[in-house]
Amino acid sequence: MTLMNTSPRNDWTREEIAALFDLPFTELVFRAASVHREHFAPDEVQLSTLLSIKTGGCEEDCGYCSQSAHHDTDVKATKLMDVQAVLQAAAQARDHGSTRFCIFAWRNPKARDVCQDHRDGEGRAEHGAGNLR
Ligand code: SF4
Repeated sequence: MTLMNTSPRNDWTREEIAALFDLPFTELVFRAASVHREHFAPDEVQLSTLLSIKTGGCEEDCGYCSQSAHHDTDVKATKLMDVQAVLQAAAQARDHGSTRFCIFAWRNPKARDVCQDHRDGEGRAEHGAGNLR
Protein backbone atom coordinates (compact mmCIF):
# COMPACT_ATOMS: atom_id res chain seq x y z
CA MET A 1 0.00 0.00 0.00
CA THR A 2 1.33 3.42 -0.96
CA LEU A 3 0.33 6.13 1.47
CA MET A 4 2.38 8.85 -0.24
CA ASN A 5 0.46 8.72 -3.50
CA THR A 6 -0.38 12.37 -4.00
CA SER A 7 -2.81 11.99 -6.88
CA PRO A 8 -6.47 12.50 -6.04
CA ARG A 9 -8.17 9.18 -5.37
CA ASN A 10 -11.67 7.96 -4.74
CA ASP A 11 -10.96 4.26 -4.51
CA TRP A 12 -9.72 4.03 -0.92
CA THR A 13 -10.13 0.70 0.79
CA ARG A 14 -11.15 0.45 4.43
CA GLU A 15 -7.73 -1.01 5.20
CA GLU A 16 -5.95 1.95 3.62
CA ILE A 17 -8.10 4.40 5.55
CA ALA A 18 -7.51 2.49 8.77
CA ALA A 19 -3.76 2.65 8.08
CA LEU A 20 -3.99 6.43 7.83
CA PHE A 21 -5.79 6.60 11.17
CA ASP A 22 -3.06 4.45 12.71
CA LEU A 23 -0.27 6.85 11.69
CA PRO A 24 1.37 8.97 14.37
CA PHE A 25 -0.13 12.44 14.19
CA THR A 26 3.16 14.14 13.27
CA GLU A 27 3.65 11.69 10.38
CA LEU A 28 0.17 12.53 9.14
CA VAL A 29 0.91 16.27 9.36
CA PHE A 30 4.21 15.74 7.51
CA ARG A 31 2.50 13.83 4.71
CA ALA A 32 -0.26 16.38 4.42
CA ALA A 33 2.29 19.20 4.24
CA SER A 34 4.24 17.29 1.58
CA VAL A 35 1.16 16.94 -0.59
CA HIS A 36 0.29 20.59 -0.03
CA ARG A 37 3.78 21.69 -1.12
CA GLU A 38 3.49 19.71 -4.32
CA HIS A 39 0.52 21.78 -5.38
CA PHE A 40 0.78 25.14 -3.60
CA ALA A 41 3.39 27.62 -2.47
CA PRO A 42 4.19 26.61 1.11
CA ASP A 43 4.35 30.17 2.39
CA GLU A 44 1.04 31.34 0.97
CA VAL A 45 -2.52 30.96 2.15
CA GLN A 46 -5.68 32.21 0.54
CA LEU A 47 -7.41 34.75 2.68
CA SER A 48 -11.17 34.36 2.56
CA THR A 49 -13.94 36.14 4.36
CA LEU A 50 -17.18 34.44 5.32
CA LEU A 51 -20.12 36.64 6.18
CA SER A 52 -23.36 35.43 7.73
CA ILE A 53 -25.99 37.52 5.97
CA LYS A 54 -28.85 35.91 7.87
CA THR A 55 -28.07 34.47 11.25
CA GLY A 56 -30.25 32.08 13.19
CA GLY A 57 -33.88 31.12 12.72
CA CYS A 58 -33.12 28.40 10.17
CA GLU A 59 -36.07 26.06 9.61
CA GLU A 60 -33.82 23.04 9.22
CA ASP A 61 -33.20 20.75 12.19
CA CYS A 62 -29.49 20.03 12.10
CA GLY A 63 -28.79 18.96 15.65
CA TYR A 64 -25.25 20.31 15.75
CA CYS A 65 -26.09 23.78 14.48
CA SER A 66 -26.76 26.78 16.68
CA GLN A 67 -28.59 28.50 13.79
CA SER A 68 -31.47 26.02 13.83
CA ALA A 69 -34.77 27.40 15.12
CA HIS A 70 -35.52 23.92 16.50
CA HIS A 71 -33.07 24.28 19.36
CA ASP A 72 -32.72 26.65 22.24
CA THR A 73 -29.40 28.38 21.65
CA ASP A 74 -27.92 31.75 22.50
CA VAL A 75 -27.90 32.76 18.83
CA LYS A 76 -30.20 35.70 18.26
CA ALA A 77 -31.94 35.49 14.90
CA THR A 78 -31.31 38.45 12.64
CA LYS A 79 -32.97 39.71 9.51
CA LEU A 80 -31.35 39.31 6.13
CA MET A 81 -28.60 41.88 5.74
CA ASP A 82 -29.13 44.81 3.45
CA VAL A 83 -27.45 44.41 0.04
CA GLN A 84 -25.43 47.59 0.44
CA ALA A 85 -24.11 46.37 3.79
CA VAL A 86 -23.04 43.09 2.18
CA LEU A 87 -21.31 44.92 -0.67
CA GLN A 88 -19.60 47.17 1.85
CA ALA A 89 -18.41 44.13 3.80
CA ALA A 90 -17.09 42.57 0.57
CA ALA A 91 -15.18 45.74 -0.28
CA GLN A 92 -13.78 45.88 3.25
CA ALA A 93 -12.72 42.24 3.01
CA ARG A 94 -10.95 42.95 -0.27
CA ASP A 95 -9.24 46.00 1.23
CA HIS A 96 -8.00 43.81 4.09
CA GLY A 97 -6.46 41.27 1.73
CA SER A 98 -9.18 38.68 1.17
CA THR A 99 -9.30 37.29 -2.33
CA ARG A 100 -12.49 35.34 -1.77
CA PHE A 101 -15.76 36.42 -0.22
CA CYS A 102 -18.39 33.92 0.79
CA ILE A 103 -21.83 34.58 2.15
CA PHE A 104 -23.78 32.26 4.35
CA ALA A 105 -27.43 32.25 5.16
CA TRP A 106 -29.79 29.42 5.77
CA ARG A 107 -30.64 26.51 3.58
CA ASN A 108 -32.77 27.11 0.50
CA PRO A 109 -33.78 30.73 0.95
CA LYS A 110 -36.99 31.48 -0.90
CA ALA A 111 -37.33 34.31 -3.38
CA ARG A 112 -39.47 36.29 -0.94
CA ASP A 113 -36.59 36.13 1.54
CA VAL A 114 -34.23 37.75 -0.91
CA CYS A 115 -34.43 41.27 -2.23
CA GLN A 116 -35.33 41.93 -5.84
CA ASP A 117 -31.69 42.58 -6.73
CA HIS A 118 -30.84 38.97 -5.93
CA ARG A 119 -33.56 37.15 -7.82
CA ASP A 120 -33.06 35.61 -11.19
CA GLY A 121 -35.46 36.01 -14.12
CA GLU A 122 -37.74 33.33 -12.69
CA GLY A 123 -37.91 34.98 -9.28
CA ARG A 124 -35.66 32.38 -7.66
CA ALA A 125 -33.09 33.41 -5.14
CA GLU A 126 -29.54 33.65 -6.40
CA HIS A 127 -26.65 33.06 -4.06
CA GLY A 128 -23.03 32.08 -4.01
CA ALA A 129 -19.47 33.16 -3.44
CA GLY A 130 -17.08 35.08 -5.56
CA ASN A 131 -13.52 36.07 -6.08
CA LEU A 132 -12.60 39.60 -5.15
CA ARG A 133 -9.82 40.03 -7.69
S1 SF4 B 1 -29.32 24.11 7.21
FE1 SF4 B 1 -27.35 25.06 7.79
S2 SF4 B 1 -27.94 26.87 9.01
FE2 SF4 B 1 -29.74 25.55 8.89
S3 SF4 B 1 -29.67 24.32 10.76
FE3 SF4 B 1 -28.68 23.13 9.14
S4 SF4 B 1 -26.49 23.62 9.28
FE4 SF4 B 1 -27.62 25.17 10.44
